[in-house]
Amino acid sequence: MQKTLALVAHDHKKPDLIRWSKSHKAQLAKHKLVATGTTGGLLTEALDLPVFRYQSGPLGGDQQIGALIAEGKLDALFFFWDPLNPAPHDPDVKALLRLCSVWNVPVACNESSADLIISSPRFEDPAYQRKVPSY
Ligand code: PGA
Repeated sequence: MQKTLALVAHDHKKPDLIRWSKSHKAQLAKHKLVATGTTGGLLTEALDLPVFRYQSGPLGGDQQIGALIAEGKLDALFFFWDPLNPAPHDPDVKALLRLCSVWNVPVACNESSADLIISSPRFEDPAYQRKVPSY
């Protein structure tokens, strides 16, 4: 069951996401990967896997990933956002996280959560369907 996974990292968190992604390359390789622009470029290089790149986050990439969620086309978000530095697109970050809650999309905001999501037996279990809220 191929999923669509989004990977996003703020600048100070990019090294962590790249390192984490490399150590989970085998699992990630089974799925369709999408990312914001700069993160996606770094991931393509580091993983040697196809990663679809949206706009850079501050230029609308977070909102494009949000649109995927609203369309029911995203299965999980790995979003290493930076809690210690202000971002010009903070409203977009908040909106993206909000949509994960609206649509019950699994989201990992740090490395330990990412570890748990990707290693969950349910992650690869075709019988497990997350509940999609009906509004
Ligand atoms: P970037 O965007 O991958 O283009 O740096 C990430 C973000 O800041 O949301």
